[in-house]
Amino acid sequence: MLTGSLDHLSDPSTNVPLPDQVDVAVIGGGPSGSTLASLVAERGHRVLVLEKDEHPRFHIGESLLPYNLPIFRRLGLEQELEAIGVRKPGVDFTTDDEEEHTHEIRFRDALDQAEGCDHAFQVLRSDLDRMMFEHAGRCGAHLAMNARVREVDFEAGDGVELEVEQEAARRRIRARFVVDASGRDCVLARRFGLQERNREHATAALYGHFRDVPRRGGEAAGNISIYWFDQGWIWMIPLPDNVMSVGAVCNPEYLRRRGRDVESFFHATIQRNRHAWERLSRGELISPITATGNYSYFSRRLDGERWLMVGDAGIFIDPVFSSGVYFGMHSAELGAEVILAELAGDRRASERARSQFRKRIRQGVNELAWLIYRFPTPAMRRLFLSSQTAFQIKPAVVSALAGDLYDNWRVRWRLRAFRLVFWLVSLADLPATLRSRRQRLKNARVEFDGGH
Ligand SMILES: Cc1cc2nc3c(=O)[nH]c(=O)nc-3n(C[C@H](O)[C@H](O)[C@H](O)COP(=O)(O)OP(=O)(O)OC[C@H]3O[C@@H](n4cnc5c(N)ncnc54)[C@H](O)[C@@H]3O)c2cc1C
Repeated sequence: MLTGSLDHLSDPSTNVPLPDQVDVAVIGGGPSGSTLASLVAERGHRVLVLEKDEHPRFHIGESLLPYNLPIFRRLGLEQELEAIGVRKPGVDFTTDDEEEHTHEIRFRDALDQAEGCDHAFQVLRSDLDRMMFEHAGRCGAHLAMNARVREVDFEAGDGVELEVEQEAARRRIRARFVVDASGRDCVLARRFGLQERNREHATAALYGHFRDVPRRGGEAAGNISIYWFDQGWIWMIPLPDNVMSVGAVCNPEYLRRRGRDVESFFHATIQRNRHAWERLSRGELISPITATGNYSYFSRRLDGERWLMVGDAGIFIDPVFSSGVYFGMHSAELGAEVILAELAGDRRASERARSQFRKRIRQGVNELAWLIYRFPTPAMRRLFLSSQTAFQIKPAVVSALAGDLYDNWRVRWRLRAFRLVFWLVSLADLPATLRSRRQRLKNARVEFDGGH
């Protein structure tokens, strides 16, 4: 079994041979796949992680949430995360008005904050994903890079057969259970025809890395900055070595106007918020600008006999609140419970774990989706920029943005109260509310390309 560092894996020709048979085959070695593989392999099961790319590799999704940290702690990776990350104390939001209106949310102001959840980290995903993949190897998982899963066959008796392509050769591997952690490739949802575009929400993105973009002052230097503009919102995520990740999330129709010169289009987009441009124009672009199409989708089912989906392979809405990696890792924790119960042959424990898996994934996503869908509306801007804290509603919203979305009723009832306040503020400016709702529904009608 292969364990330890990736150095001997970076040259695919030195990859150790793939096993013929395993307990669990995981498609994809991103944060979700590596979390699940670590938690199942450390219990002594034979786990194989099949990754089509080679770590370290670029990936988008660089801003983490405070409630990610307990999962890293559970994996024993808290210190390693701290070593590669920039400390993220909060988020600041800025409007596109002439005069700068910025409001900062600090995670330490959250209601009933869990221990150690007063901050998060910003990371280069190439570092994070490699670290987590290696960790899965140290936990006992067999790791394979440049190994693309081409086909998954559920008709193969009481197991599953995967067809894997590595170095132009194809191999078949048997597994008792298969986990789809393939991110936006959504291998199983496509295979089963389960993928649906999100009809309420559609966005697309453009992004790149810059050097020497000024950071916020003092402790806020590690904040993620969010800027609204007429077609969407912009992020600035401070990364190590004075690199700033900058992206614009916009409606897909707007992105289609980009033409050939994506770089100029990107700069013109950032200029739509003069405060964002003031910062960005002092930096230097150090990567290509990438464009990503509409990526809001979900799978109608997340699990079945001998399979389940974790992370983006099952569902993804929108990156505005930096929840993707957290949701992916949490779904992997829940998925690991299902698999451990199945492998132990404990039917009742497996049913219980499956019901938790489905319930919590939907609950977390739905709670945040409500905020995400309304984020571009004038009413939400007003509420995000206000610092009023009646009934501690604002600290409860901060808790939700930190990832406290499941078990705390003190947070959850306040989020319901926040919805009520939102509707009242929306009614007070009905024409603007209706305009922004029409725009959102129009966006959601654009053709879906699964984010590719
Ligand atoms: C524009 C944008 C900005 C974002 N910003 C943030 C952010 O700031 N914070 C945040 O938390 N999230 C963010 N996200 C979301 C985040 O990128 C994802 O939620 C996260 O990466 C999901 O992790 P995962 O492990 O499920 O999938 P991935 O990280 O995508 O990993 C999937 C892995 O599977 C591999 N794979 C795919 N197909 C196959 C196959 N057939 N065989 C073998 N391997 C395969 C891939 O190579 C990949 O390594 C953003 C997303 C977008 C689109």
